[in-house]
Amino acid sequence: MKHIVLFRNDLRFDQQPALAAAIAAKQPQDELLFLFHLNPEQFAVGTARHDYFFKTVEWFKQECRKIAPLHFIVGTVEEAFQELITEIGNDISFYFNRQMSGFGLKRDEQLIALLEKNTIPYQQFLDRHLHSVYDVMKPDGSPYKVFTPYFRQWVTLEKPGYHRLKIQFITAEKAQLTCFKKGEKVFNELVTELKPSYWDDTIGLEAARKQMVTFLKNGLENYDTARDIPSIEGTSRLSPYLKVGVLSIVEVFHAAQSTEARGQATYIKELAWRDFYQMIACYHPDEKNNEIMPKYRAIEWEKNPTGFKAWSVGETGFPIVDAAMKQLNCTGWMHNRLRMIVASFLVKDLGIDWREGERYFSERLIDYDAASNIGGWQWAASTGVDAVPYFRIFNPTVQSERFDAQGDFIREWIPELVDVASKHIHEPHKYNISYIIPIVDHAKARLAAIERFKKLDEIK
Ligand SMILES: Cc1cc2nc3c(=O)[nH]c(=O)nc-3n(C[C@H](O)[C@H](O)[C@H](O)COP(=O)(O)OP(=O)(O)OC[C@H]3O[C@@H](n4cnc5c(N)ncnc54)[C@H](O)[C@@H]3O)c2cc1C
Repeated sequence: MKHIVLFRNDLRFDQQPALAAAIAAKQPQDELLFLFHLNPEQFAVGTARHDYFFKTVEWFKQECRKIAPLHFIVGTVEEAFQELITEIGNDISFYFNRQMSGFGLKRDEQLIALLEKNTIPYQQFLDRHLHSVYDVMKPDGSPYKVFTPYFRQWVTLEKPGYHRLKIQFITAEKAQLTCFKKGEKVFNELVTELKPSYWDDTIGLEAARKQMVTFLKNGLENYDTARDIPSIEGTSRLSPYLKVGVLSIVEVFHAAQSTEARGQATYIKELAWRDFYQMIACYHPDEKNNEIMPKYRAIEWEKNPTGFKAWSVGETGFPIVDAAMKQLNCTGWMHNRLRMIVASFLVKDLGIDWREGERYFSERLIDYDAASNIGGWQWAASTGVDAVPYFRIFNPTVQSERFDAQGDFIREWIPELVDVASKHIHEPHKYNISYIIPIVDHAKARLAAIERFKKLDEIK
């Protein structure tokens, strides 16, 4: 019997339920194989997350060498797995960590159908979250729509234990198959096309654990207040590692839990938001295309390609918005406070459809997670569950004065404002400072946004 572990966005050995199960099932005469499926339907070439993900796969491929090669297959789910099964035979068993929403859910359903058709045994596990979408439910068995009661229950539930794997005791196999050779060739070509990036030196587990330990030691104590200040490292910046699965959420949870830092409870609550949004994604499978609140599906968004362009390149004339977009475009990551500010600006100040912003983030963020991103955008657009009410509209200048009071973050990303005094930096045009004139009048835009929602609110 060959036990095949299928890796996806769980590129690690520790706390890897599928890998652990395959090792446990393996008898001395059995073989263990590591597999990665290159699915042409899955990754848009040229996006930051494509490059970040595949650089991490390349790193993981080298890590696997400590035990056994990571084999690649290529093609759609049907093509790639059918080819493998035909070549390897059906004395095999699959192990994988499954997805509960979005593209991953559909892909897993296709894979399961194919395995069942071929009567191949498989085991699937939940790995990406601390609690599955079924763990935290209302007393009547229906899913929560509001975070606070969800969290009240979430926090009382026992979390999965953390297990580290002793890789020196594991042996796995190298298999010579035509489909693996084909996959390897495609992967090697793909790697040569990955572009140099900002985060190249921080790929992989060593950097991830260093980041986690540094944050827990220096950042967690003041997380409650520092997490809203984009000019300092007040948050963990672990989202890219959680996205590709180099770090397990279970490891992060237990590491945070084991400290006595003041910010611990707030940090753990943020981890619960991640679970909450995945639960929402599971129960609203069409949330990428449709507003979760049906009454807002009729909103008339502005057609404003010039505004969208200015927003996306960071040329709106609102320095905090512009600096945030430059951070995103340059690094593939953006601070949470800024994600809220720029999302609100696009939707409420420019009246542009939140789906356009969601798509732009999906192309630029290296930590892109469909559930969290759609959750965040529908929150900012006031169309999601537990979203910001449509009449409470962020004023980008006030947000800037409050969370970047000295203008340090703005200066970091907008060189032409580097010498501007703190009291002038949030609204340079008002002080005759040479900078882009704001593309929109916030006061007027605010009223227009309220009107856009209010008229739908009044329809019964
Ligand atoms: C419009 C918008 C889009 C977003 N898109 C994404 C996305 O694509 N991917 C993504 O991981 N997060 C997204 N978030 C949530 C949040 O901004 C990021 O998780 C956070 O900025 C990551 O930085 P960090 O690791 O330093 O966070 P920390 O403050 O250190 O938080 C720790 C972890 O908790 C989780 N987390 C924190 N806040 C949230 C939240 N509001 N929702 C869900 N999980 C959270 C993340 O996994 C994060 O890594 C989005 C938020 C908004 C408002």
